[in-house]
Amino acid sequence: MHEMWCGPDASGQPVWHLLTADRTGTLCGVGKQEDSRRREPTDKHCFPCMATLQAVMQPTGAAAGEES
Ligand SMILES: [Zn+2]
Repeated sequence: MHEMWCGPDASGQPVWHLLTADRTGTLCGVGKQEDSRRREPTDKHCFPCMATLQAVMQPTGAAAGEES
């Protein structure tokens, strides 16, 4: 399970990112700031992080088609 971290996205809006397994960075590549005093409550999730997580959890080689 990936930990979450609230921080600015590429446009500066606070969103919930997903951290990498070693917690040194985010899945989307946004720099994780250790000293984040500003904790702005948000219910938004980082879309690139989510997309990356889904890609990771997908079995490799699966066709990107639709499932019925
Ligand atoms: Zn992110």
